[in-house]
Amino acid sequence: MSFKDLNLIKPILKAVEASGYVEPTLVQQRAIPFILDRKDVIVSAQTGTGKTAAFALPILQNLFDKQDAPKKGKKIKALVLSPTRELAIQIQKNFKTYAEFSNLSSLVVFGGASIEPQIDVLKKGIDILVATPGRLLDLHKQDYINLDYIETFVLDEADLMLDMGFIDDIKKIERLCPENKQTLLFSATIPNKIEELAQTILKNPERIDVTPTKSVAKDVSQVLYYVPKRNKIELCLHLLRNTIKGNVLIFRRTKFGVNKLEQTLLKNGYAVNSIHGDKNQSDRQTALNKFKNGYVKVLIATDVAARGIDINELDNVFNFDMPNVPETYVHRIGRTGRAGHTGKAYSMCSADEKSYVKTIQNAINVQIPVETEHPYPLDPKAKPIVHKKQGSKYKKGRKSEASKKKKKRWY
Ligand code: AMP
Repeated sequence: MSFKDLNLIKPILKAVEASGYVEPTLVQQRAIPFILDRKDVIVSAQTGTGKTAAFALPILQNLFDKQDAPKKGKKIKALVLSPTRELAIQIQKNFKTYAEFSNLSSLVVFGGASIEPQIDVLKKGIDILVATPGRLLDLHKQDYINLDYIETFVLDEADLMLDMGFIDDIKKIERLCPENKQTLLFSATIPNKIEELAQTILKNPERIDVTPTKSVAKDVSQVLYYVPKRNKIELCLHLLRNTIKGNVLIFRRTKFGVNKLEQTLLKNGYAVNSIHGDKNQSDRQTALNKFKNGYVKVLIATDVAARGIDINELDNVFNFDMPNVPETYVHRIGRTGRAGHTGKAYSMCSADEKSYVKTIQNAINVQIPVETEHPYPLDPKAKPIVHKKQGSKYKKGRKSEASKKKKKRWY
């Protein structure tokens, strides 16, 4: 199938061609016709499937006839909600690219950045707004955003938005839009909470499922290292020095773990950056840009900070900590091996994470190949280390019985 078969108009086809896309991805093939038809859709698709273009292209086409409103008279006609700033920025960048041969304008607004420049652009009038929920509500409250003219409302990464506690904000924003709008819900997974949300805000949605959840892209080769927990840093350094070629996104479960690993790698002379929830917006953006531009070959991230970010040509993903949820594993390693490139996914598993590997393997129906040839093998019989709470050495009191007895009392 070609993009022409999707009944896309010339200016859109031109932008698609300029982006270098030869044929539509599966989610594009299936979602674009419904969205052009102004139907509601619920799409289960992960980042990397081409889902952004799947909603951006038909939205632009549907707005095309209204693009020439005098600039000041422009009303926001499409709203895309995104859980994270990074993802929001990326989505708007896509809109900008695909709108190159039109007069449609877009803006991204997110918290943690100065509000004035966002207000200035809003005052000038835009067609498409990409936003994180908090900043959107803030700007709406201050009367800089009018949602009365929304024709299409998109919820991207809906499952992550619910995980991040945005449910009430989403419902509030949805109610601020006109009732007869088109609603598009994109989510990597469709748990019950998403079904419930879909039932309240979508009207007879078409369902599209392009990621048989828990399936792993076949262009990713996986490898697993069993290693004692205390040797993970050493093995990580060993693999960075000897095995891993190209750039690598390293996942750790906690912000503390991310910082600790970053310090160690810096001390060992690696150009490293990190992103996690405690970093401010500009630091996160700088880290991401440096990694994308190849100045930094190693990026360390937590799952929430990294989810949804599109990094082209990612060579390797490294699970420093084994995720305890199979979907997270699939998500993480799905960031490599995109668009015809083959990627590698390295995972380190310590004794206490063995059960996670079992769950993951059952879920993805694949036995992850184990590499035993490395300097820090884990004794197969090793039991998880349980840290006993150590009592204070002063627990029984600082003074010995003898000294207590010797004490002369004044009374
Ligand atoms: P997404 O899933 O929206 O994050 O897109 C993942 C990547 O695929 C982005 O870098 C897009 O630019 C790219 N992409 C989207 N559609 C196509 C296509 N039809 N052909 C090739 N690459 C695409």
